[in-house]
Parts: sequence; structure tokens; C-alpha cells
Amino acid sequence: MKIYNTLSHKVEEFVPRTEGKVSMYTCGPTVYHYAHIGNLRSYIMEDVLEKYMRWTGLDVKRVMNITDVGHLTSDGDTGDDKMLKGAKREHKTVMEIAKFYTDAFFADCAKLNIKTPDVVAPATTCIEEFIKVITSLIEKGYAYEAGGNIYFDTSKLEEYYVFHNFSADDLEVGVREGVEEDSNKRNKADFVLWFTKSKFDDQELKWDSPWGVGYPGWHIECSCISMKNLGEYLDLHCGGVDNIFPHHTNEIAQSEAYLGHKWCNYWFHVHHLNTETGKMSKSKGEFLTVSLLEEKGYDPLVYRFFCLQSHYRKSLVFSWENLDNAKKAFDKLIARVAAIKAEAGTAAPSAEKTAELKAKFTAAMDEDLNTANGITALYDILKSDASAADKLAVIDDIDNVLSLGLLKAADKLAEEKSGGDVPAEVLALVEERTAARKAKDFAKADELRDKITALGYAVKETRQGTEITKL
Ligand code: AMP
Ligand code: ZN
Repeated sequence: MKIYNTLSHKVEEFVPRTEGKVSMYTCGPTVYHYAHIGNLRSYIMEDVLEKYMRWTGLDVKRVMNITDVGHLTSDGDTGDDKMLKGAKREHKTVMEIAKFYTDAFFADCAKLNIKTPDVVAPATTCIEEFIKVITSLIEKGYAYEAGGNIYFDTSKLEEYYVFHNFSADDLEVGVREGVEEDSNKRNKADFVLWFTKSKFDDQELKWDSPWGVGYPGWHIECSCISMKNLGEYLDLHCGGVDNIFPHHTNEIAQSEAYLGHKWCNYWFHVHHLNTETGKMSKSKGEFLTVSLLEEKGYDPLVYRFFCLQSHYRKSLVFSWENLDNAKKAFDKLIARVAAIKAEAGTAAPSAEKTAELKAKFTAAMDEDLNTANGITALYDILKSDASAADKLAVIDDIDNVLSLGLLKAADKLAEEKSGGDVPAEVLALVEERTAARKAKDFAKADELRDKITALGYAVKETRQGTEITKL
């Protein structure tokens, strides 16, 4: 499989360090509010990546953090603490906020068929690990204390801007966000590893440390949680493009300074979902959440389908009109799958034919996880001259990756159309009638239709296939 690696700026063959095994890390949500559907675009595409790798036989171990401390409003080290802001907004404690929005995040993920990673670690449960790594960075000369905080010294690195050839002036962290610069920093790009109480007097979550009572910076969380659970060598690290700088740049700086060798080989970044007016936001305009989609009558899986229709390296524009189009296409797709399912009955698929049908899907996904072409491959399978049983088997199989719940939705549709469970006796007659029609024995087909009618059901051929309805 090939994927685009942000580190090399190239689409590369993905080769894990240990054959057949993949260590994968994902930056988790900051749990001060609901995730917006932009955040969830990243998690959907990462989910497809993980599932595709598993589907091709790789043994993936995936770890994700939950940011419940340390993330300030600016991705640099300025502004308010996001968690504290959330707690004040809702008159709750930080831990109450964290629990509520962590649960809400996983509830949204479940609705979108996003698998929970093998390990989920809230940052507040790994404080000892952060202190261990920061202590070592100080000992090695990569970190210093100033004004009560511990900073990473970016001037000690041969190369800090590993992803881009940035100059420090282009990236004045903090200044670009219109907030004050931190005069404790020796270099503009330096970042905080540990804050002490000097930062926020009303900080709720504080821990004892060799440098005073305080709390970790955001970046150190991911390095430590990854190393703790996946070891010194990471194959694949994921996140949205906004994480490239400064978050992932800082993760690499501190991890490699600590380890003394290269840490992660592949960096996978999902481009943003934007609204027609620009960046998706939790504070401005309509706050687009999974619940809002549901309130407006959309199945969350329509949103998953909408995301899969585009490549993860293209920014995607959300509008209700675009989502409507996705819904129409999704409904049609399910109707077609339902028809194929009815036609297939209990016939067995052919291994040779299903392998042939699967090949186009695999080719699309192997080419930098091109889900847009993967969906086209799905339509090609539906259009092909293969038998219904072959088509059904392949659709069922590739839906382990796409996770659109196609067969389940098709069953639901068939049930709705038939006004409840169709008795086995009727289904058997319908199957017999389909076979008779195929064999061009129309007299027998008519006879069978009469029998079905006598049992209280109507059977009709539509463009989508056989439809059974209660009379
Ligand atoms: P956060 O909860 O802010 O830490 O973000 C969670 C994830 O969502 C990160 O991987 C971000 O890079 C990603 N993200 C943030 N905004 C968007 C967006 N508009 N579209 C896609 N991914 C996003
Ligand atoms: Zn992270």
C-alpha cells in the first residue's frame, strides 16, 4: 500500500518496521466541548486507514490520547486553558467536563462506525510518564527552566522544522494568533513542557513535580503516551493538517531528543472540512455536530459516506446541499444493495469472481487511500455482470473497511418495504420465482406470484430489483 508521507512530501510504499505489524498513533480530541464534524472527518479517515490495513492482513495496534489537560486556546503556549474555559462555561469541574465530552466523543464515533482504538489514554493518567521524559530532556540539555516553566530548547536541534523549510520568522507562534509573546522563551519556537502555577492561578488540575506544582504542556502528552504504549519506534502517526505545526513538529523534536534516534517513519494528515464561509468553528455560526445532523434528519452514516466520497488530502466543503446530495446517493446505494440481497437469496458466491471484483477496490485504496475511487469501485461492482451472490459477498467484505453498514441498512429497508418480517415461506417462493424468471419459465413465475399473493404479499420487479410488499 502507498500513502502520502508528510515527512518526505511524497506518496511512498508503506513498509512497517516489523513485517506484518503496524504501530499507529492518533492525536485524540481535546474534550472541552463536542467534537465538530470537521474533527470527525479526521477520525473517519483514520478509521478507514486502520481498517484497510487490518483488512489487508496487517496486525495494527492503535493508540490515542484524550487531551484533558494542557491545551491552550492557541496551539502555541498562549491564551486560556481550553479545559478550564469549558468548565467555567458550564459551571462544572474540569474532570466533569472531561468525562462528559469524552463520552460524547465516543458516542459520536459509534454512530459513525468509527472503531475505538486499542488503547485510549487520558493525559491526566500519564503524569508520571511526562515527568520522567521532561527530567531526561533537562538532563540531556534539551530543556530549561524559566519563570517557573520548563521549555524545550529548539536551538539545540540540528533541524527543528522537519516538515517544512520554515524560517522562525514565518512562524511566530502566538504572535500570529494575536496574543502576547512569552518573554521566558530563549528562542521564538521554544515550547512549554511543564507549566507551574505561575501560568493560571485558578488551574484546577495540578500535580507535584521536581519543578513545582503544575501541569504538562499539550505536545509532551502525545510523545509520552505513544512511547509508553508503542515503544521507541512508531510506524505511523495521524492527525488533521492543523496538527503539523506546531504540535507534530514539537512531538518529533522532544521524542527524538529523548530517544536519540528517529522516532516515527510515516505521518498521515487529513485535510480540513470547511464551511462555505471558511474554517469550521466551535464558537462561530452553526456548531456542526453529529447531533445536529441527526436533528435535521440525517443518518450519521450519510456523513461518513460524504467524507469517503472525497480523498483525505483534499479539503472538503460542507454545506447542507452537499450533504443532501450525499444522502440521495446513499439512499439509492442502499436500495441497490437491498435488491441484490433479495436476488442473491442463499446462492453461494464464486471465489474467483469475487477476487476479480475486489481488485479494483484494492487498487484504489492502495493508491494513497483513495476512498473516492474506492466508492467508484463499489458502483462498478454493482453495475458488473457478476451474479447477485458474488456482488453481495464482495460488498459485504469491502464494507468491513468502509463501515457504511450497507447490508444492515439494506435489511432495514427491505423490512420497511415489506411492512415487517416477510415469512420464510414467502421468501422461499420469491426466490423460486426469481429462478423461474431467470430460466424464462414465465408460466411458473406467474403461478408462484399467485401463491405469494394468496399469502398476502405482492412481488414486483423494479429497476433496483425484486420488491416484496405486504398487501
Ligand atoms: P482537537 O479536538 O482540536 O484536538 O482536534 C481533534 C482532531 O481534529 C485533530 O486531529 C485536528 O487536527 C482535527 N481537526 C480540527 N479541525 C478540523 C477540520 N476542520 N477538519 C478536519 N479535521 C480537523
Ligand atoms: Zn497529539
